[in-house]
Amino acid sequence: MTQANAYAATSPDAGLEPITIERRDPGAHDVEIAIEFCGLCHSDIHTVREEWGGITFPLVPGHEIVGTVSHVGAEVTQFAVGDAVGVGCMVDSCRECDSCLEGEEQYCSRGNTGTYGATDPRHDGEMTQGGYSSSIVVDENYVLSIPEGMDRAAAAPLLCAGITTYSPLRYLDVQEGDAVGVIGLGGLGHMAVKLAKALGATVTVFTTSAGKTAAAHELGADAVVLSTDPAAMAAAKDSLNAILDTVAASHDINPYMRTLARDGALIQLGLPSDDMPPVNPGLLIRKRLAYGGSLIGGIAETQEMLDFCAEHNITSDIEIVRADELNEAYDRMVAGDVKYRFVLDNSTL
Ligand code: NAP
Ligand code: ZN
Ligand code: ZN
Repeated sequence: MTQANAYAATSPDAGLEPITIERRDPGAHDVEIAIEFCGLCHSDIHTVREEWGGITFPLVPGHEIVGTVSHVGAEVTQFAVGDAVGVGCMVDSCRECDSCLEGEEQYCSRGNTGTYGATDPRHDGEMTQGGYSSSIVVDENYVLSIPEGMDRAAAAPLLCAGITTYSPLRYLDVQEGDAVGVIGLGGLGHMAVKLAKALGATVTVFTTSAGKTAAAHELGADAVVLSTDPAAMAAAKDSLNAILDTVAASHDINPYMRTLARDGALIQLGLPSDDMPPVNPGLLIRKRLAYGGSLIGGIAETQEMLDFCAEHNITSDIEIVRADELNEAYDRMVAGDVKYRFVLDNSTL
């Protein structure tokens, strides 16, 4: 066992505080990583504040991890000491079910092993602890390679926000000439804009924040619609082929369904803790629309996304925070006051 410095939540409302955790000794297939940066995802907040249900404390969040390999097990073949690597939302899965065999490990029928807050059946059976920590030990099959030259801090959010938006864009086969809508301009939303543009789509951003209009255009959005303005929403009617919904709070999606053209699809990515108003079936039926959801992405697709981002010069727009600023950063994220992702500098732990 090695000791790692970390920040953990000890109750739903106490905020994060310094803690020391133990990391297992790397096994034959494990990679030990000295963590340099970790993005702050809204899922971290939902989790530690128990907005998605009860959890076991203390819990170290963080699943947008980038660092340097500090040790490899005897049978590791894909990584060497000194490599720049990343870890996203999962650190293992059963490797035997159809989803795992098809490279969709996130949908593992036995449940993927989350990077934090999951029991780890293959290793020590202990609860996993995430990336707001100085080191982590992960099986090499769940470790990603950070492309050479990519800014490491700005790459961290790709490990969740990047893959979560890339995967449905690819699943829907978004390409040149398609019209894509993005609801909510936060961590996921701003990555969705960049990735959809890089795939050749025209992009419409739906935001509740009038102040984000100019910034959305700077990110590459072709149109920005203030979703609280019924006239602007009506003007967007029947215009889009695909919409990614990244909103972290309960909201009515029916007005967005009206902006889809025939055969369009709205993919739900945000996972609010409160129920959402039901989708009107008539809206779906009259234009053969689809309403679906999507969970992060598989390991191979995550590597594909990182390589795609390197090729298109895409990283996240970030604000780096110290460990003692984590609680303030959470409050600012809930208030929508971030452009567009906070990233922890793990050297400050
Ligand atoms: P974020 O950075 O906080 O962005 C969420 C955005 O939603 C806000 O910037 C805001 O954009 C919009 N919004 C509108 N009304 C809101 C309200 N009342 N409260 C909060 N946000 C509101 O969050 P994120 O990290 O991108 O995550 C977004 C959601 O996706 C979360 O629910 C998260 O848990 C979920 N998620 C899902 C997956 C998956 O695999 N499906 C993966 C990662 C995260 P505007 O100001 O532009 O309106
Ligand atoms: Zn996340
Ligand atoms: Zn599986």
